[in-house]
Amino acid sequence: MKRSELDPKYLWNTELIYPNMEAFEKDFQAAKQQIKALAASEETMLDSAQSLYQTLELYTHCELLITKLYEYAHLNSDTDTANNEFLALSGKCENLFHEMGAAAYFISPKLIALEETKLQQWYRAYPALEAYRRNIECERRYQPHLLDENGEKLLAQLQMCLSSHEGTRDVFSYAGVTFEDIIDENGKKAVLTDSNYIPFMFSNSREVRKAAFTSLYKTYQQFSNTYAALLNGYVKEKTTLAKVRNFPSSLEASVFSDEVPAGIYSNLIDSVNQHLQVIYDYYALKKDVLGLEEMHMYDVYAPLVGEIEETYSYEQAVDLVLDTVKVFGEEYVGILEDGIKHKRWVDVFPTENKKGGAYSAGCYGVQPYILLNHNNTLNDVSTLAHEAGHSMHTYFSNRANTPQQASYTIFVAEVASTVNELLLAHKMLKESTNPTQKKYILNELIETYKGTLFRQTMFAEFEKSIHSMVEAGEVLTADLLSQAYYRLNQKYFGEGVVCDEQIRYEWERIPHFYYNFYVYKYATCISAASAIVKRIENEGEKYVQKYLKFLSCGGSKSPLDSLKEAEIDMSSPAVVEAAIEDFKSVIEQFSQLNKQ
Ligand SMILES: [Zn+2]
Repeated sequence: MKRSELDPKYLWNTELIYPNMEAFEKDFQAAKQQIKALAASEETMLDSAQSLYQTLELYTHCELLITKLYEYAHLNSDTDTANNEFLALSGKCENLFHEMGAAAYFISPKLIALEETKLQQWYRAYPALEAYRRNIECERRYQPHLLDENGEKLLAQLQMCLSSHEGTRDVFSYAGVTFEDIIDENGKKAVLTDSNYIPFMFSNSREVRKAAFTSLYKTYQQFSNTYAALLNGYVKEKTTLAKVRNFPSSLEASVFSDEVPAGIYSNLIDSVNQHLQVIYDYYALKKDVLGLEEMHMYDVYAPLVGEIEETYSYEQAVDLVLDTVKVFGEEYVGILEDGIKHKRWVDVFPTENKKGGAYSAGCYGVQPYILLNHNNTLNDVSTLAHEAGHSMHTYFSNRANTPQQASYTIFVAEVASTVNELLLAHKMLKESTNPTQKKYILNELIETYKGTLFRQTMFAEFEKSIHSMVEAGEVLTADLLSQAYYRLNQKYFGEGVVCDEQIRYEWERIPHFYYNFYVYKYATCISAASAIVKRIENEGEKYVQKYLKFLSCGGSKSPLDSLKEAEIDMSSPAVVEAAIEDFKSVIEQFSQLNKQ
């Protein structure tokens, strides 16, 4: 489909950001001027409370302007990826971000070095500065981790030689690693790649799954030493930097930037470890349903149900999602309905040269935008619920906060989206009378919990253990990594699944081990979401008000304090246990339906 053939109501309205290129260009030039002014404020920033305030204001508004410019360029580029003009504009806006970063490099060290008594005096003398208290405190948390001037200079110079392992790994993976062809479901020769490997794992044909599994890991086995050297280099770099900056470990250094204590990380691993029986039981059920003698690693993704016949037009999807979010009250529904139906937040259908997948984007002072590729499947309905969750989180956070405190952090970023997704699934399960459809929804829920809670926690445990090994003075060789990874698989899949030898090389194909303790956040987000959904369903309106407060926190509080608004205490095992309980009940429902 071409965009020109579509009713404009199905296209997002980016003219609300800039009505024309002239307006864009005007702001672009203004941003350039602001960057210059920002650089010039280095001299005056600490002259007085007022000049500190002015520098921070300048920074906030400059960042806001560039974000707006970038949003306009990248939204338009994504709906027409063949359009070089918008691609170039996106690149130019990215450069503006770099220029701003370079111009504002002095702000953080100056804020950290500022004398405490002087700062307190300034808050009293110039109350407007209070608006930046949280931002200033977030920077000053790093005080114990700052080096002397020479140390900081040296590190800044070294910075450009660091972080090369992840790039090298990507280049090597894309260019250097190929796999033997396999025979697909139609008896035809098929090229196996890293990206079509998982789709092959979802194949109904066991032969195809086994062939893909065998071919993929045959190659990875050959490159174990190269991948080990890269991962060892990466972990060594992170552990060394943590030590240099006076952190007890690389894990502590990473969660420090999330404003999360390391105990949350260990709690997650402990809680999931204590309930591994749930996933063992699931694999036993799966083995039964698939009628297998032995359950192998290449069977764990095999689908339990076929495709369903029901299709969902976009209008039906919108109705279903709006009906799901009714629990949040009239205001929430009203804003979302107006956004979707009248303000054109959403770009709905796949069109020529449009970017695939789905996302939600938002910047302060501008309405949220949602990119979809609606294709009438049940999955597409779930995607709309998910993205609408992101957009409403952004909407409420922007509305309730000043620009410098509007953005929420990654630690809570997937909570609102997952809450909506789970609520939709629960609603459809309750209302559906079709057992096949019910089984399909249950299977999707199982895959979500399995992939987000259990698999990501296994990854988080692997990450923690390899960093600890390096901190204990060990070198991560291919043998050591593969052995550690294999043992974890034995633990997370249990004795009911044959832990095939090849799986010991899987760590080589996971780019997330170069994300510096990122994946645990997937697991904590789904846990928080699950706990929230449980309370919404049990307590209704009274609890919803607390949840809406959480949505309005933005970055005005730490992520843990924001979640406390919704009475979610991430330090308590009860949160992860709520998700495990829901997972258990989903498996139970599937098992019951399957017996009928
Ligand atoms: Zn999301």
